[in-house]
Amino acid sequence: TPNIKPLIAGNWKMHGTSASLSSLEAMATGFAEAASDADGVICVPATLLERAAGVVEGSSLQVGGQDCHPAEKGAHTGDISPEMLSDCGAIYVIVGHSERRADHGESDGVVADKAKAAWRAGLIAIICIGETEAQRKAGETFNVLEEQMAGSVPAGASATNTVIAYEPVWAIGTGLTPEIADIEAAHAHIRQHLRKQLGAETADSMRLLYGGSVKPGNAGDILSVENVDGALIGGASLKAEDYLGIVGSV
Ligand code: PEP
Repeated sequence: TPNIKPLIAGNWKMHGTSASLSSLEAMATGFAEAASDADGVICVPATLLERAAGVVEGSSLQVGGQDCHPAEKGAHTGDISPEMLSDCGAIYVIVGHSERRADHGESDGVVADKAKAAWRAGLIAIICIGETEAQRKAGETFNVLEEQMAGSVPAGASATNTVIAYEPVWAIGTGLTPEIADIEAAHAHIRQHLRKQLGAETADSMRLLYGGSVKPGNAGDILSVENVDGALIGGASLKAEDYLGIVGSV
């Protein structure tokens, strides 16, 4: 979208120990040269966040978390608040990733609470939506997306505090991607629905990322689709060469 600066977001999921920081360092070093005009963030495991923030310091690459608890603090063993992520140097946090929705039973309501909590802590929420294979086959894709937007994108979402990631669940980690025309149709539908939900001015400046098996080889085609303002990348964000290859195709 012409007036929107793309975002290339990486999601390391449950991958990465100290040894992986050299890969992050290579991404930070190469980012400015690879990115003609894009923002970049790598969402690392919380255990690496503070060191990762140190590694990217001084570069234009940023770091983020992969999930947060809605509360600021409290008796929630094992959980991490957005304030804690921010304290470690996070700028973004992913909420409602399909793996969280599936593995932890997160509902749209929980995802909305997490997004609001992210804003409270000054973080940018990357809110994930997307249909399963069964839902796509049943022709329910647009209904599912509408329901997820209505339920997990809270009022108050703005182009500066929120990024929407469209990730067809069946395309995540499978090497499968939708046809370009299907990505285009889904993103147009999302933009249209967000206009109704948040107003045209907000919706037209909000970043809509595509996620699901984005690789250096398909990134150019996907990133040039109308209403695709960047990508959320899992597997291909683990290696600097892959991530920078995608960044370079913006
Ligand atoms: C993701 O987990 O958000 C994702 C898109 O994964 P992959 O790129 O590996 O499909």
